[in-house]
Amino acid sequence: MFSRRVNNPFSRINFRLTAQFSAIFVITSLILFLIAYLLLSSTLKSKDHDELRTKFFEVWAQYQTGGLALVRREFALEELLGSRKLFFVRVSDQVFRRLFLIHPTRWEQFDFTRLDEPPPPEFGEVVRLESEVYQFSLEVISSRLFDGNTLQVGTSTEERDLFLRRFRGIFALVIVPLVALSFLGGLFTSFRSLRPIHSLTQAARSIIQTGRTHTRIPSKGTGDELDELILVFNQMLERIDTLIRGMREALDNVAHDLRTPLTRLRGGAEMALRSARDEEAYRSALADAIEESDGIRVMLKTLTDVTEAETGTMRLSLETVDLAKLVESVAEMYRYVAEEKDVILQTQLPETMQITADPARMRQAIGNVLDNAIKYTQAKGIVIVSARVEEGWATITVQDTGMGISDEDLPTIWDRLYRGKEARQHPGLGLGLSTVKAYVQAHGGSVAAASEEGTGSTFTIRVPNAGD
Ligand code: ADP
Repeated sequence: MFSRRVNNPFSRINFRLTAQFSAIFVITSLILFLIAYLLLSSTLKSKDHDELRTKFFEVWAQYQTGGLALVRREFALEELLGSRKLFFVRVSDQVFRRLFLIHPTRWEQFDFTRLDEPPPPEFGEVVRLESEVYQFSLEVISSRLFDGNTLQVGTSTEERDLFLRRFRGIFALVIVPLVALSFLGGLFTSFRSLRPIHSLTQAARSIIQTGRTHTRIPSKGTGDELDELILVFNQMLERIDTLIRGMREALDNVAHDLRTPLTRLRGGAEMALRSARDEEAYRSALADAIEESDGIRVMLKTLTDVTEAETGTMRLSLETVDLAKLVESVAEMYRYVAEEKDVILQTQLPETMQITADPARMRQAIGNVLDNAIKYTQAKGIVIVSARVEEGWATITVQDTGMGISDEDLPTIWDRLYRGKEARQHPGLGLGLSTVKAYVQAHGGSVAAASEEGTGSTFTIRVPNAGD
């Protein structure tokens, strides 16, 4: 149903947009035409009426001066000269008996008896005489003459009507191709501007069908709203991609790393069943099993945390923290372990150092780095923990004089479940540094390590210092 509706050209947004714009165009053109038509028709009408009035006064003056005889003479002369404008002139007595009538022969179908009425009280009022025979009408002005007779002068609307008819015809002729052109142009423009939406639909459909989220829509770089939509869509895909990749990697790692402890767990249980003779042996096997499963639990929890932090779904409980105090308390926690190993643990911290951070996660991150430093440093070695604030950043450094890391290993130490060859003789899961990196990055910070094999390492954690 979804695809059927989209494939219907009449339900497509570009068709609807074009239809709407074309309708607006037609309505606007019609309004403009109507205004122009009304203006033109009223101008022509008043021009015709002016000419009619002038003619009326001309005939009226002739009648006043020389009576009907002069009127007759003048018309005969006009006929001879072939006057451009044609007029109807009638003089009738008080009982509408015709005394004088002249008009072009082709107007004879007009019923002039309908003009047998006393002139309107207001001078200059134009009376219209219609006819069923002609497409035009006669416009007449009447007035009483000084001797009681009535003078009627009229002219036809033929020329004016013809002009207006032509005007209407031209408009009808022009508007049809113009509307078609505007429709096609609108269709083309809206299709072009909506093309990014088609790309979005295709990309979304391909993701639904194939499940592959690495599809990206090329941006036109126009910076308009549709370009922004593409940008946001691509960002969303990027985010989904990261989440899926994170989940897949975590799953792979879990599957891989659970195999060893589970085999150990099963092996221990099997051995106990096969060879244990007394309760003490069983107890010891069960204790081993508990220890092993605890290890698995910690590993799973850490992996989940790291995945959460890496994919940006980790919720931080941010608060104002005195980082100097926090580092000091972590160092205090590890002082006993250091003493046990005969490693000298020193701190170089400012009085106070306010930052906005999740204290539990920061404590864990610093603890992991410090734990490694003590773990991988031999007796009589030194571990120095320092912290400082500079240009909006808080920096914590853990420096040791331990076994160091080879150049080859250095880039991989932050990977999940990675353990150096030398490190394998020490306890550990290979999740310490990846946890540090994920937590620090969740704070918007960064981690770095510098090391020289056999000499020692320096680990640096940098977090934004909002309190600065
Ligand atoms: P783990 O310590 O459990 O092995 P980590 O993720 O904490 O796992 O560390 C990864 C690896 O980085 C370690 O196995 C070790 O090889 C190396 N490493 C980390 N910290 C140090 C250090 N201070 N000195 C030398 N090697 C280190």
